[in-house]
Amino acid sequence: MIEEGTGALPVEGVPADRVLAEIRALRAADRPTHGGRLFAYVYDPGVAGLDELARAAYAESAHVNGLDPTAFPSLLAMENALVGAAARLLGGGPGTSAPEVVGSVTGGGTESLILAVKAARDARPDLAAPRIVVPASGHAAFAKAAHYLRVALDTVPVDPATLRPAVADVAAAIRPETVLVAASAPAYAHGVIDPVAEIAAVAAAAGVRCHVDACFGGWALPWLRRLGAPVPAFDFAVDGVTSISVDLHKYAYAPKGVSVLLHRDAGLRAPQYFGYADWPGYTMVNPVIASTRSGGPIAAAYATLRHLGEAGYLRLAARTREAVSGLADAVRAVDGLRLLAEPESTVVCFTSDDPGLDLFVLVDELTARGWHTQPQLAYAGLPASVHLTVTAAVAPRVAEFGPALADAAAVARAAGPVVLPPEVRALAASLTPEELSPELIAGLAAGLGLGAGPAPDRMAAVNTLLDAAPVPLRERLLVEFVGLLQRPTW
Ligand SMILES: *Cc1c(COP(=O)(O)O)cnc(C)c1O
Repeated sequence: MIEEGTGALPVEGVPADRVLAEIRALRAADRPTHGGRLFAYVYDPGVAGLDELARAAYAESAHVNGLDPTAFPSLLAMENALVGAAARLLGGGPGTSAPEVVGSVTGGGTESLILAVKAARDARPDLAAPRIVVPASGHAAFAKAAHYLRVALDTVPVDPATLRPAVADVAAAIRPETVLVAASAPAYAHGVIDPVAEIAAVAAAAGVRCHVDACFGGWALPWLRRLGAPVPAFDFAVDGVTSISVDLHKYAYAPKGVSVLLHRDAGLRAPQYFGYADWPGYTMVNPVIASTRSGGPIAAAYATLRHLGEAGYLRLAARTREAVSGLADAVRAVDGLRLLAEPESTVVCFTSDDPGLDLFVLVDELTARGWHTQPQLAYAGLPASVHLTVTAAVAPRVAEFGPALADAAAVARAAGPVVLPPEVRALAASLTPEELSPELIAGLAAGLGLGAGPAPDRMAAVNTLLDAAPVPLRERLLVEFVGLLQRPTW
């Protein structure tokens, strides 16, 4: 821990080695970013030496500023190379049906999606109230984009069995004010690939842009397809697809802070840019949301791609595919657990059909055994589930996961589900966000062990409470709980 009285700004500076030791001590409380036991947040290829390379490349360009590509041509060159590689992987570039593809390097998937929506919105200045159509399984970042950009969000339900939207429902949701239709390849929660070709066709028929959110799968599906997996067309090979996002900080295994947003041509990209000369300072042209931005993540991503190459990614995808199939078998082997979808990408997602086997308790039992999975709340007719993002580093761990899952399930079943006090459950079901007073939030947080300091080891009660609450109350509780954590230390 940081020594008392020092904080981030001590009176006298602290020697470099001690500062680093302090950071390492803080990092000890984090979930393990390496080692194949964390199934969300991080993407670990398990390749020896890759971290050192990325770190060195990052350091090389950390102080370079992406604000002005003419001042730092190194960054422009690396960005153009990353966009070219992503475009080529996703059906664009010379000799394809999308030879004019262009793109931008953004800071992450959310930024890519916000910019895709912005470009679509600003291409239609004639519309007073623009709208976008997104399947219910689409990433929350589309809702964030709609919220930030004041664009209406039309959600299309997904079939509870296939977890895909019906194409007729997508077509029916398109209105004269619709500026963008979205599809996912795959959707994050369940790893299911939307019917992209059909969705793009109805969008094209209506003269509307179609964005494929391949933030998660864009750097995995092409390799899986080359390995023989039945991956449907989802990229620029599909005629009506006008833009695609792909996160390099996911399956390209680059350190955090890099995504690519591709457009089929420069005309489609133009309204994404923000140019400004109506002030006395430097003329500003921003392709992305940030103005000053570090070259570190871009150089690190460039180094990662160059070092791994196609052969490296193909090997990593083969390992990941093996891990997915081993994890799915482990789930099938446990009575009461059921795969929510047959894995078709790099996600394993399961639910419980046994009321005595509580998923949130199971997640805590797995955490206690060193396996960090991601619980997902019940939503719109879909059951609560457990999400596993699978990366290449998981492969050597698969044999240990099966027995751990079986053991955790047995203990969770013996413990039984979390039972909220009846008055708390009733409150969760009936309270409106407006009725949540600071006192009530503080009382709830204290009762759940939330507050300043690290989150409790067991989160089942928190998840059960959230699960019992309607969506608007969930959102408000999350905001309040995280707000309690984010307080300055002195
Ligand atoms: C991760 C993800 C995003 C958002 O990306 P961030 O990098 O977390 O901002 C969007 N869409 C999908 C499908 C994702 O998996």
